[in-house]
Amino acid sequence: MNSIYDYTLNELKSQLKPSFRAKQVYNWIYKKYVTSYDDMKNIPNDLKENLKENYAINILKIVKKEKSSDGSIKYLFKLHDGHTVEAVLLLMKKKKIKEDGTVERSEKFTVCISTQVGCKVGCTFCLTAKGGFVRNLSVGEVVDQIVQIKRDNEIAENKSVNIVYMGMGEPLDNYNNFVHSVKVFSEEEGLSINRRRMTVSTSGISSKIEKLGNEDLGIQLAISLHAVDDGLRSELIPMNKAYNIKSIIDAVKKFPVDARKKVMFEYLVIKDKNDDIASAKKLLQLLDGIKAKVNLIYFNPYPGTSYQRPQSSDMVKFQEYLTSKGLLCTIRESKGLDISAACGQLKEKETNGSS
Ligand code: SAH
Ligand code: SF4
Repeated sequence: MNSIYDYTLNELKSQLKPSFRAKQVYNWIYKKYVTSYDDMKNIPNDLKENLKENYAINILKIVKKEKSSDGSIKYLFKLHDGHTVEAVLLLMKKKKIKEDGTVERSEKFTVCISTQVGCKVGCTFCLTAKGGFVRNLSVGEVVDQIVQIKRDNEIAENKSVNIVYMGMGEPLDNYNNFVHSVKVFSEEEGLSINRRRMTVSTSGISSKIEKLGNEDLGIQLAISLHAVDDGLRSELIPMNKAYNIKSIIDAVKKFPVDARKKVMFEYLVIKDKNDDIASAKKLLQLLDGIKAKVNLIYFNPYPGTSYQRPQSSDMVKFQEYLTSKGLLCTIRESKGLDISAACGQLKEKETNGSS
C-alpha cells in the first residue's frame, strides 16, 4: 500500500475529491503530526474511510532510541517488512549576546536521514555496507523519518529543521525517491523546509551528481571524498573504479551552488591511511577553483575493522594546514559519539542484541 507521505500536494490534490481536502490532510499530517485519520476533525467520514483503505499513515515504528550526552538522539525505525533504518536528531544550542547585553538562546535542529536499507556502494569502512543492499526506501519512508522525529520531540510545526541525507544508504542510488522527498519536504502547506537547509551526501556517483545539478533543486551538495588518490579511494570506496576522483571533481565544477554556500567535501580520516600533510596538500590542489569547505571526520572504529581512529593531533595539523592556505575546514564534532556516531552502528548493536 502507498503511504500518505508519498505525495507532493499537487499529486494528492489530483487523487482526492474535492481537491481542497488534500491541503487539509497535508496540514494534519505535517503540522499537527496526527497518526490517525480519525483525528482529522474537518475531514468527512467517507473520505476518512477512503484514506484508511488507500494510504498507510503509520509506516515507521520507533523501535529503539538512544540519547547522547550532547543531546543528540539516534532513532531506529522498523519498516512494514521488518527491516530497520536509522535517523539521528542533532541539536545545536546557540547563544547570542544582544546589543543590550541580554542573552538570547536558540536551538537549531538537524536531522540525518536514511534513504536505503543497506547500500550497494560497499565502502570498506562503513557498517551499513556490511549487510549488503536490501532495498530502496519509498518516498514516504524517507519523509516519515522527519515527521516522526518532529512529533517525538514536540518540535513546533513552524520550527524548521535542517535535513542531511547522510544516514544509511546512497541517496543518489535511490535517485527518484530522494528527489521526490525533497519536493515533499519543501511544500509550504506541509513541512515547509527551505531547500537551502537540505544537504545530500554522496559517495560520488558522478553521472547522478550531474543529473542533480541539471535539475537545479537548490539543495546543498556534500561529497564523501575521503581520499586524494584513486588507489586509496578505490580501496575505501570500491565504486571509485567506475567513478574516479577526476570525474567527481568535474561533476562538482558543473554543479550550481547557491551564492552564499559552498560544496562540502567530507574527508573521513583514518590513522596512517590519509591523515598526513602530504594528503592535505593534495586535497588543497584537488579543490582548487571550487567553492569548497572541508569537513574532517574521525573514523569511528567498530569490532572487526582493521582501520583505526586517527590521533587528535594529526586531525588538528591537517585542519590547520588547510586553514592556513585559506580553505575553510572544520572537524566534525563528536556529536553523538557515545551513541555510536556513524551510520549503521545502532542497527548493528540491535541485530547483535549487545545493548
Ligand atoms: N552514502 C552517502 C551518505 C552518507 S553515508 C555517503 O557515503 O556520502 C553515512 C556517513 O557516515 C558518511 O559521511 C560516512 O563517511 C560516515 N561513516 C560511515 N562509516 C563511518 C565510520 N566507521 N566512522 C565515521 N564515519 C563513518
Ligand atoms: Fe554506502 Fe555511504 Fe556507507 Fe559508503 S559510506 S557504504 S556509500 S552508506
